[in-house]
Amino acid sequence: MAWRSSKGCEPLFGDDLQDELDREPIPLSALQHAVYCLRQAALIHLERVWAENRLTAEGRVLHATTDRPGGRSVRGVRRAAAVPLASRRLNMAGVADLVEFHRGDGVETPHPVEFKRGKPKLHRADEVQLCAQGLCLEEMYGVPVPEGSLFYGETRRRVVVPFDAGLRALTEETAAALRAVFTAQATPPPTPKKQRCRACSLAELCRPQAAARPAKAWRSAMIEELLAGAAP
Ligand code: SF4
Repeated sequence: MAWRSSKGCEPLFGDDLQDELDREPIPLSALQHAVYCLRQAALIHLERVWAENRLTAEGRVLHATTDRPGGRSVRGVRRAAAVPLASRRLNMAGVADLVEFHRGDGVETPHPVEFKRGKPKLHRADEVQLCAQGLCLEEMYGVPVPEGSLFYGETRRRVVVPFDAGLRALTEETAAALRAVFTAQATPPPTPKKQRCRACSLAELCRPQAAARPAKAWRSAMIEELLAGAAP
């Protein structure tokens, strides 16, 4: 199969092909972290730092029960679990927990469903991640995807999320901000919303109070200190 440009239909060769292969897609899951705190997204997805707390552990357990590929129909709605998604336009890729295919007027409309621990939040991180899945599905299937659903483990409620112009714009802005971070390979400063740091599993590693020092520099200094302490 010939690789084709993300901008057009011409087959790619040589340097152009290499450029395309070098465009490592942004993980869809990074968008929710970026809405919460762009620095958190960079620490997890760029610096590969991860620290688990009770909240993240519960989320992981919830996804372990939903991340099994497969398909079936429920009350006439075709459902597919653990669906790989990608958008060349936004250079994003990931996996949807569940995609339902709602049939109407002879057309199947994809409807992404994302499972979350806890309950609906004041910020829009979950909605942005879901909307990004919708944008991928639109590009993959060539049909409008007007909405998706978030299912929350704590409330056992399903919330329908319309992909309106405001949410689409926020999703595209977040993806652009993430692309800029990935391109620059630079971890941004801490979020000014200090209350978010209290629930952040990376607070110990990030040390937002030492904001002037990037996390990489702080970790290097810590390693230097440990090595100095271990020296005879
Ligand atoms: S501790 Fe605060 S600044 Fe650091 S990653 Fe978490 S939310 Fe962002």
